[in-house]
Amino acid sequence: MIKYLNVRSKQRNEFIDITAQVEEALGESGVQEGVCYIYVPHTTAGVTINEGADPSVQRDIINSLTRLVPHDMGYFHREGNADAHVKSGLTGVSACVPIEAGKLTLGTWQSIYFCEFDGPRHRRCVVKIIRG
Ligand code: ZN
Repeated sequence: MIKYLNVRSKQRNEFIDITAQVEEALGESGVQEGVCYIYVPHTTAGVTINEGADPSVQRDIINSLTRLVPHDMGYFHREGNADAHVKSGLTGVSACVPIEAGKLTLGTWQSIYFCEFDGPRHRRCVVKIIRG
């Protein structure tokens, strides 16, 4: 089963919690045991799994990535979003979560985040549920 999530970002750099949407896709699939594969088909966005309880953590990650990869640093890529491409490379564009008893095996403090690095935009995220 495959499902496409619609994600609408409001800021240039933003983490959007998609855990509930991924859980909904898993519920619809009826799969009890397997793997949930989350894939972002974009070159200036990513996906990561990290702390969901304290929103400060997302801000700290975004700020840290921005310190590592400033917006304007004389990049060769002339589209004006080279930093977003690099940040996407750092977070990666996919994540996998094992499924047990019909639930994602996320840790207590973990959430799944769509990572926007060149918003605001309308984005898509692929959720593939693999039985096994
Ligand atoms: Zn570009």
